[in-house]
Amino acid sequence: MEDSYKHKGMRKGLVKLLREKGIRDERVLKAIGEIPRHFFFDKAFLEHAYQDKAFPIGEGQTISQPYTVAYQTELLDLKPTDKVLEIGTGSGYQCWVLLTITSHVFTIEYNKVLFNRANQMFKALNLKPQTFLGDGSLGLPAFAPYDKILVTAGAPVVPKSLLEQLKIGGILVIPVGDENLQKMVRIVRETETEFTREEFNNFKFVPLLGKSGWNL
Ligand code: SAM
Repeated sequence: MEDSYKHKGMRKGLVKLLREKGIRDERVLKAIGEIPRHFFFDKAFLEHAYQDKAFPIGEGQTISQPYTVAYQTELLDLKPTDKVLEIGTGSGYQCWVLLTITSHVFTIEYNKVLFNRANQMFKALNLKPQTFLGDGSLGLPAFAPYDKILVTAGAPVVPKSLLEQLKIGGILVIPVGDENLQKMVRIVRETETEFTREEFNNFKFVPLLGKSGWNL
């Protein structure tokens, strides 16, 4: 896997675009400027890697658009000590972005083919998130509670189990809506029983599957 000056130049252009679109978190911009997104692309499609768009990764799934990755990560307001759960490992790109800010990342994927592929990728890159195969719509209770939970697929509702797995002061970022359009929602657990909810821009994600997702 080669990271040439050409790729680095294209990443600079992408970071500039994300700034223009309103991304402000310097740690997120730095991560996107450093991570070779083209490593997640087949050789035939390398020219798509630094365009600001989602791209198919097989199994009917996508690597999220860079703007979406940046937007969700910014909303998480990550700290280096945060224990984070990502739901929807997919390619592993978003996970790498998280790992540049905190090393305590748990990531869960529903699709076995993608799970295996992402694990191979993490190994080749010497990245060490804790990876799980399973239904992330139920969270990952064995390792809860989390400071931050990030859902990278569109949910019909906010799963109750994810709220229960947040620490007090913890943040959940999740796209919620129908199959065509979802609103980015950020929920903060204020106390044991109280949560605040804010709504942000509209996005279009692949569906969150599983028990608390879409039963497709
Ligand atoms: N974060 C990914 C990346 O950087 O490539 C993008 C994820 S893609 C938009 C959504 C992913 O969520 C897909 O890989 C899909 O298989 C996965 N997914 C869908 N439902 C899930 C569930 N219930 N639990 C875990 N993963 C799920």
